[in-house]
Amino acid sequence: MEYLLRDLRRTHYTSNVTEDVIDEEVTVMGWVHEIRDLGGIIFLLIRDIEGRIQVTAPSKKISAEILEDIRALRKESVVAVKGTVQSSSKAPNGVEILPSEITVLNMADQPLPMDPTEKVKAEIDTRLNSRFLDLRKTGVSAIFKIRNQMFKSVREYFADNNIIEINTPKLVASATEGGTELFPITYFEREAFLGQSPQLYKQMMMSAGFDKVYEIGQIFRAEEHDTLRHLNEAISIDMEASFMDDVDVKNILNDMMVKLITDINDKCSDELDILEYKLEVPQGRFPDIDYDEAVDLINARGVEMEYGEDLSREAEKVLGDEMDDFYFLSGWPTEIKPFYVMPYEDQPQKCHAFDLMYKNIELSSGATRIHQYDLLIEQMTKKDLSPESFDSYLKAFKYGMPPHAGWGLGADRLNMVLTGVENIRETVLFPRDRHRLTP
Ligand code: ATP
Ligand code: MG
Repeated sequence: MEYLLRDLRRTHYTSNVTEDVIDEEVTVMGWVHEIRDLGGIIFLLIRDIEGRIQVTAPSKKISAEILEDIRALRKESVVAVKGTVQSSSKAPNGVEILPSEITVLNMADQPLPMDPTEKVKAEIDTRLNSRFLDLRKTGVSAIFKIRNQMFKSVREYFADNNIIEINTPKLVASATEGGTELFPITYFEREAFLGQSPQLYKQMMMSAGFDKVYEIGQIFRAEEHDTLRHLNEAISIDMEASFMDDVDVKNILNDMMVKLITDINDKCSDELDILEYKLEVPQGRFPDIDYDEAVDLINARGVEMEYGEDLSREAEKVLGDEMDDFYFLSGWPTEIKPFYVMPYEDQPQKCHAFDLMYKNIELSSGATRIHQYDLLIEQMTKKDLSPESFDSYLKAFKYGMPPHAGWGLGADRLNMVLTGVENIRETVLFPRDRHRLTP
């Protein structure tokens, strides 16, 4: 059978083919990025996860058989190239491979549904329809290399602070926090839903005595709107901590952001260069603006906003222009925040809730939570939710629930901030939006 790997193994990634291995025999494996046949000499560019390497085949030095193999290659086919490394002032990395054996591991059909070499700009829909090809582009895979570092740094931060990773169910019964539409599913003979957030479960983990927990997982929201910062399936980084309040968990969020941006600058400088994006490490504490003050500011800048409303897109843009890059928006009206948010003691129409904003985009929402059973029932009733349907959650508040606070941070939106992309779909391998359920 053709196309088998057999005993062939890669000895070097393209990035390891450097001046350090001149005259050595190497085997690289990857995709045919480019073929340039100048008659007397053929240049091949082979691409792998690390980059590209030039394979140079002058007809004087290379057997007719190999030259024929190269000429039969089609762009984006998968090959293994064995050969000797030699220095070359003209090659992109200063070195090239003189091939002694070329094995086709899979020939690509032509024409390709899209060009993965970044020469032609394609519309986002065309790109997403052939996402596997789109992801071969350096500028696209850079976003996911940064995403990988983002999760690594976030997990490191949590681990360093003794915050325990948990996994909670995404198949849930009817009762949820409200505020968004859910996706119904059939669960055997019953109706169930895809979870909108791990909120209720992570709070129950406080009663379980786990002290501080985090979860990185899918959230599902049947939001009809189709914007550049909403997906129907997103990833949320959620944390919850006992014996802490909103101020404490804001500090955790602030510290985590600083570590994260410092790490991305240190470890992903090549990817940031590819994306032509500069990230500034925030200095000191993020500024904090009170909701009341924000309403006044927004109105003063000519965007109408009633006290008690959520921020419109225009209102977010005013704040984005007026504030530092990162800032907290705190002291929200109790009425527009979920039932589990702790009201101010002396002024119960406001509550201990905050959003972390980056310019005009909401990154995170958090709060001190209500830990007293009676107050929780009171707030639920005020929001026309029936406590009976929250039985299994409420039970956790009756037998020793500590005071606690936490936040949920949109990982895909955070990924936008770390890469400078303006469409959230760019940060997700296979995005789910109002119109897209494949691939
Ligand atoms: P928005 O007002 O922007 O729709 P939200 O207030 O409904 O967001 P929360 O319920 O507070 O969102 O969720 C916490 C975080 O999860 C948000 O700050 C955001 O970063 C992220 N998030 C929420 N919904 C989505 C979504 N549909 N797509 C991508 N990320 C989301
Ligand atoms: Mg929110």
